[in-house]
Amino acid sequence: MKAITVMPGTPASVQLDERPEPAADGQSLLVEALALGICGTDREIVSGAYGWPPPGRQRLVLGHESLGRVLEAPAGSGFTPGDHVVGIVRRKDPVPCPACAAGEWDMCRNGQYTERGIKALDGYGAERYRLEIDYAVKVDRGLGLLGVLLEPATILAKAWDHIDRIGHRTKSWSPRSVLVTGAGPVGLLAALLGHQRGHEIHVLDLAESGPKPALVRDLAGTYHAHRLPDDLAPDIVIECTGALTVVADVMRQASVDGVVCLTGVSSSGHPLPFDFGSFNRNMVLGNVVTFGTVNANKRHYEMGAEALARADRGWLSRMITRVVPLERWQEAFQGRPEDIKVVLQFAEAA
Ligand SMILES: [Zn+2]
Repeated sequence: MKAITVMPGTPASVQLDERPEPAADGQSLLVEALALGICGTDREIVSGAYGWPPPGRQRLVLGHESLGRVLEAPAGSGFTPGDHVVGIVRRKDPVPCPACAAGEWDMCRNGQYTERGIKALDGYGAERYRLEIDYAVKVDRGLGLLGVLLEPATILAKAWDHIDRIGHRTKSWSPRSVLVTGAGPVGLLAALLGHQRGHEIHVLDLAESGPKPALVRDLAGTYHAHRLPDDLAPDIVIECTGALTVVADVMRQASVDGVVCLTGVSSSGHPLPFDFGSFNRNMVLGNVVTFGTVNANKRHYEMGAEALARADRGWLSRMITRVVPLERWQEAFQGRPEDIKVVLQFAEAA
């Protein structure tokens, strides 16, 4: 069978390989790949800047944003052939730390977790793969190819879960407005989940044309190209760019009692003029919380699946701006300016 493999740490090593069929183990699902979402992490691994192969091997099967169809399921597993499933990315560390022991591998304390398609475990970019029952999540078959958006949606399901928990530190928590910075897949899904919660949505992005402004407007949101009005004081900020000036701005401008959630990873080593004194002053005198979030646990996959099932399918389909067939797989890894989400298709999802 075919699989996309890469030698982590070696630039331009990605290739479409022949690999043996996954071995039967009597306890996991055999899954046929339907689609694979491609994200910045995949491109970073392909560039040689990130990723770890499985122990004792040089090549890693790439891919962590999966959508597959169950071919074989053990009796009593709760899955049946034909089910559409998404594989959870992270596996708990072997110690395990207190967070992993509680099933919260997204909060792993010792960093010894593994991740399919990223860290020490083969990913989902193969025509067929095995998926442990505990790490498989069903998605609505009616979503078809759109089910591939579940993994990125889980990142925002977790972000919103934590925003709610932090907000409820005060009994009067009733947020109204939300600012999302960045209208890529993560930002748009942050806006979608905020809209589903009944919030007023603002999205900041650099694009002045293309599909992003209309996608935001169709969530009854306000799209801001390049800059924000000075009087905007959002109750919640979800930062999805990792761009230093944007991060600094949202941390400075947070409203009183506000919650700022950082989801974008910045590169280090670029000092920025930043008035740390006024940042501290605003945080203290405004009861502001700024926090970071990464990854997702099974509960967030279930929340994400529910959010996708409720969403308008026409809107979701406009987020997928390119579907690349497996024969032309290289194109999926070449970013284009008009891209939102690029999907590599392995088989018909209908
Ligand atoms: Zn852990």
